[in-house]
Amino acid sequence: MVTALVFHESYLEHEQTPTHPERKERLAYTFDQLMEEGIFESKAVEVVSPFRADEEDVLAVHTRDYLEFLKRESKTGGIIDWDTVIPVGLYESAMLAAGGAIRAAEIVDKGEAENAFAMVRPPGHHAKPGIGAGFCYLNNIAIAVRWLQRKRRYSRILILDWDAHHGDGTQEIFYRDPTVLFISLHQMPLYPGTGYPREVGEGEGEGYTINVPLPPGAGDECYLTVFDEIVEPVAHDFRPEFIAVSAGQDNHFTDPLTGLALTARGYAELMERTKKLAEELCDGRLFAVLEGGYSIEAALPYTNLAIIAAMAGLDTSCIREPRSYLSALDSVLDPSAPQKVRMTLEEVKKIHATYWGCFVRW
Ligand SMILES: [Zn+2]
Repeated sequence: MVTALVFHESYLEHEQTPTHPERKERLAYTFDQLMEEGIFESKAVEVVSPFRADEEDVLAVHTRDYLEFLKRESKTGGIIDWDTVIPVGLYESAMLAAGGAIRAAEIVDKGEAENAFAMVRPPGHHAKPGIGAGFCYLNNIAIAVRWLQRKRRYSRILILDWDAHHGDGTQEIFYRDPTVLFISLHQMPLYPGTGYPREVGEGEGEGYTINVPLPPGAGDECYLTVFDEIVEPVAHDFRPEFIAVSAGQDNHFTDPLTGLALTARGYAELMERTKKLAEELCDGRLFAVLEGGYSIEAALPYTNLAIIAAMAGLDTSCIREPRSYLSALDSVLDPSAPQKVRMTLEEVKKIHATYWGCFVRW
């Protein structure tokens, strides 16, 4: 069984401006690196083409008014906000990215791949039902999760969002829904300013949103602690039938937009743990979707590689970023971050002890 890498050259076409942080080189440099590392020669990773999402699949998440707006504006060019302009042709790019996420989910569901990584752009996790934001137009992972529920009848799906920014769009989409457990690890303070532990979901969905804000300077150790103490035990309580990861890579220590300190090795370890969790809980059914990540030369080629290699079960012990970048790590890593994260973890566990048996002693 292979890991499917859903990718297409068309994912390089979307462009807001040539200097926008979310630009085509994010994927172009990554793909070059994957080729150089010989990752496809291992036969453990196979490139798979995406398809275009059907409107019906997108409308399970977004409003018709918003979809019509995107379609209309992308004919002449338009704007959502200054971070998120609508270039000509955006509609097709966004539909192909959403379709890439669905393709990743589909190929795993069919058993044609062990797991799948949708290396798509534009990203999606800030997109809400009625509006895009933060470089995002359509919420790719939410569309794929809804597709799995509607077309493949899965009843419980876990979304783990480790992008440096809070996945506010995904949270809003599933906020009242107990069938999707949304766990977000993100830097705070940072755009979009949401994602406090007290945001736990509403109505029937109360308890099914878990937010773990992290301080700037948090690195591999902090992330792995959150995984072991929050993600893993809650996932065992929830018993998902599928795991979906919003695999943002802007928590890398060289990212220009954030202040976190994850390393390529850290991404490999996070994905190895996630893969193990999927094997324990849902026959390994796991797909990931690229979100952010703006350190185009120093991070993305190595962090994407780390994630894909971990999914494919390749030896990741040698995964490191080039030594020339490592000197920057010490200036970003905050030695007091683990202590701050400890306090947040206690708060999250206390709040969620109402909903999850694994936290009852809090
Ligand atoms: Zn981000």
